[in-house]
Amino acid sequence: MTFDELGLCEPILRAVAEEGYTTPTPIQEAAIPHVLAGKDILGTAQTGTGKTAAFALPILHHLITNPPQPSPRRRTRALILTPTRELAIQVAESFANYGKYAQFKIAVLYGGVNQNPQITLLIHGVDIIVATPGRLLDLMDQGWADVKRAEKLVLDEADNMLDMGFIADIRKIIARTPQWRQTLLFSATMPQEIRRLANEILTDPVEVSVAPVSSAADTVEQSVYFVNAEDKPAALLEYLQSTQRERTLVFTRTKQGADRVAQYLTRAGVRAGSLHSDKMQSVRLQIVERFKSGELPLVVATDIAARGLDIDNVSHVVNYDVPHVAENYVHRIGRTGRAGATGVAVSFCEPRELRHLRAIQRLIRQEIRVAELPGFTKPVRSEGRPARQNRSTSRKAAEGQNPANRSSSSSTNTAVAGPQPTLGQLGGRSRRRKRTPFAR
Ligand code: AMP
Repeated sequence: MTFDELGLCEPILRAVAEEGYTTPTPIQEAAIPHVLAGKDILGTAQTGTGKTAAFALPILHHLITNPPQPSPRRRTRALILTPTRELAIQVAESFANYGKYAQFKIAVLYGGVNQNPQITLLIHGVDIIVATPGRLLDLMDQGWADVKRAEKLVLDEADNMLDMGFIADIRKIIARTPQWRQTLLFSATMPQEIRRLANEILTDPVEVSVAPVSSAADTVEQSVYFVNAEDKPAALLEYLQSTQRERTLVFTRTKQGADRVAQYLTRAGVRAGSLHSDKMQSVRLQIVERFKSGELPLVVATDIAARGLDIDNVSHVVNYDVPHVAENYVHRIGRTGRAGATGVAVSFCEPRELRHLRAIQRLIRQEIRVAELPGFTKPVRSEGRPARQNRSTSRKAAEGQNPANRSSSSSTNTAVAGPQPTLGQLGGRSRRRKRTPFAR
């Protein structure tokens, strides 16, 4: 099946093609026709399955093909609720990307930051709101956000929202949306509590489900190396040279990082190319082709550039940087261990990336094995284990809220379930290695 056959309008098809998507994922194939038909959905799907596009594409199609009556101020027509600000930002980015050929205004609302810029956006009117429940409810109570004419409501990662204690806020928000709205509820798991909520808020829903993305990860052997920031290039080189590998994808967070790592490896005698969105499309395609044919055994890529790339037989995924968005980790390592094959995913984690590693372990509900690289001792800086938080504290932390004051600024602090390795426990002194030209 193609996106064309799903009946999506031209501006969306163009944007999807530019994202590099060729065929809908199973959850998209299963959900999109029902969403287009106006049905409520109860979807079991984890992140990494393409679930965002499964609701974003048909919602955007509806907004484009059913323009509102002309009015001096935009009204909010779609509301998406997410458990964390990271997911809210990611979902809003997806709406912006898929809807780039239509002029939609999108507000992403989450706590832990000054609310004034969010209010300024809302004053001018927005078509789509992507929000965490606490901050949205605050802004609704203050009279800035209005969802009483929202035609589409999405609850994304509903089980996580319930786990974080958002249920009361969610009920209050839903009570202020219209009865006639279309509601889509997505959840990785379907406990009784979610079924009860679904019974309350969905009308005659169609159930769609796909195999969880973590099942793909079961065939991936994951490990993490704790290294000092300045040792990362040398540690990567050491790892690559001492490992039997075939096609290898190395991920960096930034485009400059991808170029620098590729140049460093090439100079050190490891054939490598880089892939990021600053490169011309034709150059990107060329690199992908060379990688697929085996001519180029290693590619250093950013998350964005790797999106939509359907490359099989990647033996190793290396996270040179620990991704700041936990879901990107699942997506990255999903590049290996496909179709029953086994794969290897390793991450290089420097002390300041530890909190991102914890967020990843929480998302995948799994502790990643700590491995050691001969010649590299563990970082000297120790970082204590964060105190376990109660439900409401972790909920507010996930939303970016200071528990003492919802609207004030605070930094996030993620709680991790189960015992976690800490750099303090790992101890040891770092052997100083020669600084490389691009040590950060
Ligand atoms: P999600 O499950 O929504 O977090 O999506 C996981 C990843 O799959 C994201 O990086 C998307 O860009 C990518 N993606 C979504 N739909 C497709 C598709 N049809 N083809 C290729 N990649 C996709």
